[in-house]
Amino acid sequence: MRRIESSLAQTGHTMRDIGGVLITHEHSDHISGLKMLLKYYRPTVYAPRTVASRLWGMLPEIDGCLRVIPVGEPFLLGRLFVRAFHTMHDTDESVGYRVEGDGVFALATDMGRVTDEVVAGLRGADTVMIECNHDEEMLRYGPYPVYLKRRILSERGHLSNADCAQLARSLARSGTGHIILGHLSRENNTPMRALDTVRGALEGSGAELCCAPAEGCLAVPVGESEAVCWR
Ligand SMILES: [Zn+2]
Ligand SMILES: [Zn+2]
Repeated sequence: MRRIESSLAQTGHTMRDIGGVLITHEHSDHISGLKMLLKYYRPTVYAPRTVASRLWGMLPEIDGCLRVIPVGEPFLLGRLFVRAFHTMHDTDESVGYRVEGDGVFALATDMGRVTDEVVAGLRGADTVMIECNHDEEMLRYGPYPVYLKRRILSERGHLSNADCAQLARSLARSGTGHIILGHLSRENNTPMRALDTVRGALEGSGAELCCAPAEGCLAVPVGESEAVCWR
């Protein structure tokens, strides 16, 4: 929560400006700050049905703050249209989000494979944040136990740099101008490797590419406003 607070402060915002928190799935790296956010700010939390029921079980204090959202249909959050779309991951339900206001921002991480549903969710967005989780060689020859390597490499695991590069190229062709790489593995990737792999695929496209920082925030233009991203 402190990281979120200090990152927002860098862009002149506070937690009071937050209209809602969108949850992709209930894995701990995505909800570890939620307990403290609920304790101090009680923001409205949006999640698809299966994720919401897991959150109820894990965080009883979420009662009264949780809104179940449809997947595949847009809903209104303030002045923004938000649409969740499914991602293939090793949990019962996991989603990415497309947010439309003055511009379009879309996010998809935690996916072993890029499905048509993911492409449809991301296509045509001005700015996207997509998973660039691991360098396949670093993962294969790295220190992780075999079962974990298999899980990450499976179609319900995480996206490799090479697969991310392919996705980035097709998004750049559909008009996306800013591509942010996120959810990089600390053990099986480096920002330099991720950027090099994806940059190669984007040559000549004119799309801007960057990595979400491990700490702090990154403000990128989305239409008339800006989006703030974390790793
Ligand atoms: Zn996950
Ligand atoms: Zn994750």
